[in-house]
Amino acid sequence: MKHDCHYHPGDPAKWHCGECQIHYCSRCMPDADTRQRRALCPHCSKAMRYLGAATEVVPFWQRLGAFFRYPFHTDPLIVIAICTLVPVVAPANLIGILIWLVLALALFKYTYAVINHTAEGHLKPPAVSVAFTGSGFDIVILQLLVFVLMGGLVGASAMLGGPILMLLALAFVILALPASIMVLAMERSVGAAVNPMNLAVLISRIGTPYFLLYGYLILLTLASGAAQDFAVNHFPFWVAQPLAGFLNSTFTLILFHMLGYLLFQYQEELGFASDIQDETAGQDTHQRDRSARFDADIDMNLKDGNYDRVQSMLKEALKRDRDNALRIGQLYQLLTARQDTDELYRYHPRILGWLADRNDGEGIAGVLNTLQQAEPGFKLEDPDLSVRCARALYHRGQFKPALRVLQDFHKRFPDSEQLAPAYLLVAQTLANGLSQWEKATAFLTFIQKKCVNHPLHEQIAVYMEQARNKEPLKGPRASFSVQE
Ligand SMILES: [Zn+2]
Ligand SMILES: [Zn+2]
Repeated sequence: MKHDCHYHPGDPAKWHCGECQIHYCSRCMPDADTRQRRALCPHCSKAMRYLGAATEVVPFWQRLGAFFRYPFHTDPLIVIAICTLVPVVAPANLIGILIWLVLALALFKYTYAVINHTAEGHLKPPAVSVAFTGSGFDIVILQLLVFVLMGGLVGASAMLGGPILMLLALAFVILALPASIMVLAMERSVGAAVNPMNLAVLISRIGTPYFLLYGYLILLTLASGAAQDFAVNHFPFWVAQPLAGFLNSTFTLILFHMLGYLLFQYQEELGFASDIQDETAGQDTHQRDRSARFDADIDMNLKDGNYDRVQSMLKEALKRDRDNALRIGQLYQLLTARQDTDELYRYHPRILGWLADRNDGEGIAGVLNTLQQAEPGFKLEDPDLSVRCARALYHRGQFKPALRVLQDFHKRFPDSEQLAPAYLLVAQTLANGLSQWEKATAFLTFIQKKCVNHPLHEQIAVYMEQARNKEPLKGPRASFSVQE
């Protein structure tokens, strides 16, 4: 049974909290440590079970082509070439037999390594060195032991229960053979590989796909046998022998790759977890990004409808980092969606500043409108913020709200440096936006008379001229002064 993320339906779950019975995908768990397979549940902070990549593994019957291409990679081809060609040229004496034996062992070891390697999520074959180095050659003896014990089981059942019980035992042994090979490859334990309970549990957990795989195995074995038979009958011995060996090895690799893939596909049911090991993707999963965790928590709480919780989280975050634009934006969206006028009022300086930075004139008009409805005489208390908001409003064609923001500016902020820019903006809004040239001229005259020391003062004459001609107020054409 594959699960989707509780919060992102359609995304495969990677983690499961046994306490809360909730599944999470990797988007929900940006702070999880996939390499160590450790993550804490965002709800209860208990350790969670890693589900691995099983939830997004393609079923093996949908990637048959990839199985057949598997042996045709450099590493397995080298192993197969060495193990099938060298014995042909080896001398026909004791040394030759010894060479043959060692190479057979190496090939055997390599094929079992394919199961482990695949089960761990590597979809490319293991390196050549795996066949010839390190420990693990005992797998041959272990597998022989398994065969002996299975033979013993069939023999014992024949002696104890006669031919019917013997046939039943034989049928079970044949059916369970792939499962036994899988268990042996993974656990390296003869006892586990012949324990009927163990094998029955494995087969029942995988279910129908096991029998499907079994069908493929029989077909492949038949095909391999037929191809080898053809080679022996139609080619001279010195060609036929290595060709048959080559065919045998490639088919074995395909079979064992399939067995490993079945383990990989059913890792969740079988009680182990591994992720697709993509060697090219070198992302640093160790890096724990607290901000990403915070975002995931906000997302979850929003989806759970815990708006109060999200609001207090954002306010908490803004206490630590006053001007975090991302959190201000999130708070703005939450507060406007919830129509929380009180909180909007409390945070309006930061929210309006954030909106002004983004030139969001509509957003500013909306917030101001809400605040003015709640408090009819509402005015901004910060001259700089007022001018920034008015400018954003003006540029977005919100002329009336722009004028309202700057209303009585000279009375409210008589000493502000922003007085000249504010009233130039008023003049531009009146003239360019509302075609009220006389009123615009009045504001320009005000700047001319009262703001003698401001750098804008020397350009006022140009604006006055434009206003007289009822042209848009754009200021001096060729000007090197830095203006907004
Ligand atoms: Zn998710
Ligand atoms: Zn939990």
